[in-house]
Amino acid sequence: MPTRVYYKHSRIKDINVPYSFQCENCMKNSGDLQAHIIGAEAVYNSNFKTINDDRANKLEKEAYENLAKKVREAYKDATEKEIYCTEFKDECPHCHKSQSWGVSGLKKKRFETPIVIFAVGMIIFIISLLAYYFAEIEYLTLPMVFGILGVTIVCSVVLLLWNTLKINMKLKETSVNGTQNIPNIDWNKVQELLK
Ligand SMILES: [Zn+2]
Repeated sequence: MPTRVYYKHSRIKDINVPYSFQCENCMKNSGDLQAHIIGAEAVYNSNFKTINDDRANKLEKEAYENLAKKVREAYKDATEKEIYCTEFKDECPHCHKSQSWGVSGLKKKRFETPIVIFAVGMIIFIISLLAYYFAEIEYLTLPMVFGILGVTIVCSVVLLLWNTLKINMKLKETSVNGTQNIPNIDWNKVQELLK
């Protein structure tokens, strides 16, 4: 059987959202900062090395939509729930201390990566288990299959603990800050994406 070659065509869109904040520790204004928001990669696999204009436009549009989705989510989180995604760095440029509002973004991400890793690991585990029983692959042993499951569980748990530790550290660090401010975000600059 001839091997088929696929070419991966992809587009990524990104944008900077201007913001600033008053430091809760040294009280100075951070000055103009930029949150660099990157949309999910739009991918099209093709048998051909080049793609036509039509397909290229579709890919562009998809990448734009992915970015818009992310910016809209960041906007909704910030304006409705006071959750600031981690792209809004909370380290003061003057005294380098963290801000209390920086905790919200970490909390939102706490379960994200552990769940993704667990899901991907489970899929690989199930495929290997099926392959072991039905495909009779010589080098695939049962301990190896359950090894995959073990590594998946350990990685997810360690990541979850690490994320929780990061949250607790930031909570502790910012609890000594006298005031609790929130960042000032200039959403006008990304109006187009919020429509
Ligand atoms: Zn400061």
